[in-house]
Amino acid sequence: MPFTSISPLRLLLGSMLFLMVPVVGADEKPLTGTALKERTQEIKKKIDSEYASLEALYKHLHANPELSLHELQTAARMAKELKALGFEVTEKVGGTGVVGVLKNGKGPTVLVRTDMDALPVTEKTGLPYASKVRTRDKHGNEVGVMHACGHDMHMTCWVGAARVLAGMKDQWQGTLVFIGQPAEEIGAGARDMLEAGLYEKFPRPDYCLALHCDNFSPHGQVRYTEGLALANVDSVDILVKGKGGHGSAPHTTIDPVVLAARIVLDLQTIVSRERNPLEPAVVTVGSIHGGTKHNIIPNDVALQLTVRTTTDKTRKEVLEAISRIAKAAALGAKAPEPVVSHQPEDFTPAVYNDVALARRTVPVLQEALGAEKVQARLPVMGGEDFGRFALTGDKKVPIFIFFLGTIAPERFVEAAKPDGKTIPSLHSDEYYPVPEPTIRTGVLSLALSVLNLAGK
Ligand SMILES: [Zn+2]
Ligand SMILES: [Zn+2]
Repeated sequence: MPFTSISPLRLLLGSMLFLMVPVVGADEKPLTGTALKERTQEIKKKIDSEYASLEALYKHLHANPELSLHELQTAARMAKELKALGFEVTEKVGGTGVVGVLKNGKGPTVLVRTDMDALPVTEKTGLPYASKVRTRDKHGNEVGVMHACGHDMHMTCWVGAARVLAGMKDQWQGTLVFIGQPAEEIGAGARDMLEAGLYEKFPRPDYCLALHCDNFSPHGQVRYTEGLALANVDSVDILVKGKGGHGSAPHTTIDPVVLAARIVLDLQTIVSRERNPLEPAVVTVGSIHGGTKHNIIPNDVALQLTVRTTTDKTRKEVLEAISRIAKAAALGAKAPEPVVSHQPEDFTPAVYNDVALARRTVPVLQEALGAEKVQARLPVMGGEDFGRFALTGDKKVPIFIFFLGTIAPERFVEAAKPDGKTIPSLHSDEYYPVPEPTIRTGVLSLALSVLNLAGK
């Protein structure tokens, strides 16, 4: 995920909004003091006894990644893990999705989500348990497959939290809905599971929780945002049309290569000249393809864009500007009108963490892990389809995703040196979370967050 920080004004406006939100409702008993200490100790003890098995699970998942929509073995393993704990499990919910329900009396329904898919990346970490998996992508190209976004870590923490909570049924009441979601990397899995009836066929959640690996913070730590966490993501294709011909006779052609180059530069003015600098947006042309040979002017050039925004209004205006600028440039070049295509169904909505839920969860994590280890961070312009779980139906569901530190602290010291090695970002072929203590922190944080909502 490429990251850009959000404006101070937005954060200020957000903070003003937060002040109007009650921190804890009248019927909610936050986990504090001795009760919290006892639960934390009990969870840590359970993690001690499960740790070897969880690390083995992590390494197994890491070595056996599957691409989006192909998470067959992974989903089967997740289903098996939940069944062994007494969850009522339904498979193939929206593709390869897994839903496990554990009922334990009257109380809130808490959904805990993991994603399961990996990326078409050839791993170069050199780890003994590195993935050697190769497959064909949807275009038929042979690609390496790697858990370069850390979804293997998400699954491990999710299984760990399920084990802890299934073993502590005397400490909570309500219903757990643990879901293994496919196809997060292509923005399809959450939508597919919701369309398959996740909120109708299974208990509708009162709260949704998730975590995501973070390459910006040391292992043993957690980062969070209140409100905006991640951005809207749209993809746009532009087919720039010209009139092909001989490279030596440009006057007999309309050159789509030059026109495409002009469009790429003109698009930069959307963010730099049209947008309010305090309302973030990103327009990136990530792919440009045209032509076959030095001396042939082609008929067309294809551009692929990713567009990141944080509000509906900005999104609408930026998408409109892309179309307008591409068409105006073509008009100026006497070229045919370009085809600007945008697939609304591929849209990934921004993730807004529910402020009250964040403010209810964070103090518990701070008390258990240490305040200095649980810190606020800025939102990023990366995308995550977890936001969809908040948006369906007439009533919004409070959601909260937090970020799990995964990097050995000494690597930050090294990276700060003038010639120090930079830390790879998520999706890099060199990115990897350190299993211990990352697994311990992830399991403890997830399990405590659930106990805090459904505790007795
Ligand atoms: Zn990713
Ligand atoms: Zn991810």
